[in-house]
Amino acid sequence: MRKEYMMTPGPTPVPSEVLLSQARPMFHHRTPRFTELLVAVQEGLKYIFQTKNDVLIFASSGTGVMESSVVNLLSPGDKVICCSNGKFGDRLVKINETYGINVIKLEYPWDKVVNPEDIKRELDANPDVKAVFVVQSETSTGVLNDVKTIGSIVKDYDAVLVVDSITGIGAVECRTDEWNLDVVMTGSQKGLMMPPGLACISVSDKAWAAAEKSKLPKFYFSWKKSADSLRKSDPTTPFTPAVSLIVGLSEAIKLMQDEGLDHIIKRHAVLAEATRQGVEAMGLKLFAPAEGRGNAVTPVWVPEGVDGGKLVKILKSEYGITIAGGQDHLKGRIFRIGHLGYFDRFDIITTLAGIEMVLSEMGYPITLGTGMQAAEKVFMENPL
Ligand SMILES: *Cc1c(COP(=O)(O)O)cnc(C)c1O
Repeated sequence: MRKEYMMTPGPTPVPSEVLLSQARPMFHHRTPRFTELLVAVQEGLKYIFQTKNDVLIFASSGTGVMESSVVNLLSPGDKVICCSNGKFGDRLVKINETYGINVIKLEYPWDKVVNPEDIKRELDANPDVKAVFVVQSETSTGVLNDVKTIGSIVKDYDAVLVVDSITGIGAVECRTDEWNLDVVMTGSQKGLMMPPGLACISVSDKAWAAAEKSKLPKFYFSWKKSADSLRKSDPTTPFTPAVSLIVGLSEAIKLMQDEGLDHIIKRHAVLAEATRQGVEAMGLKLFAPAEGRGNAVTPVWVPEGVDGGKLVKILKSEYGITIAGGQDHLKGRIFRIGHLGYFDRFDIITTLAGIEMVLSEMGYPITLGTGMQAAEKVFMENPL
């Protein structure tokens, strides 16, 4: 028998309350019962997104709503600014290019934050830019981009600000309305503590005005279709919704409302800090720069002489702990410890212990317990 621990930044562990709620018998979606559920989920999502805007729900992975932000806001040949300092920023570029959008790419090394001043400079030089795309929490690198400052810049231009907060929501502050973030998105298998399959996106008035002029084709992912159904006197969805996932989401939202958003973010900050202190105490180096580290995932450089791929494999096969490896050019060079969503202190302690044992087994000089000790200290100094 081996117990499994999933320490990845998506999919993330799902609480039993959420799992069990999805096991109940199916019910029809054109019913008062579903409407009531949808209304409650809407209210909950508005709280989690910190917005008064409608939050549209689609049955897709996160990439579905990334694509929806392109097809609903833009027309062929439109000009946009896309910031990229990681794999998901690159994906935003690729989706835009797929639809024939003229992309001004602001590219940064993967261990650097996006510089908001660069966005301002490009907006001044290109007054015809229709949208600015940025990832708040780059899951590939753990880098946190300053979308608050970016929002304060973009609000003075015609361009709409689109934020991929797929591992930001529920882990770090993301004040949609206060920070002037026009479009904000997340996926169910990240901070929402849900299985994969749902994606949520909020749309501001400025973004709706842009959407009215958009000529790119869309059908299933039409924001307007979704919003029209949601704004009916008995709110619904245009197509068959993923009923059981929405049931699960309402349970997850209840858990999040009970804990409170401030505490959720504080918990993530403490777990992230303990993880960082733990790996640094082991003599390992953090990947993300000090000026931009998120709370969702901690990427760590694989130490000299250690095979990164093997480390991840042994951790899983011998101890049942799944962490993520590096992506693209960082494959084998970093590993990533996820702590996004349904995580608590002993998930971190367990993972650090596992990493210490595997590193030791692989010949890396380490005194067992060093990382755990540093993490325990953080937990004792920051009660949750
Ligand atoms: C997970 C993730 C996505 C979406 O990926 P899917 O596999 O389509 O759900 C997009 N952006 C970021 C930052 C992510 O972490």
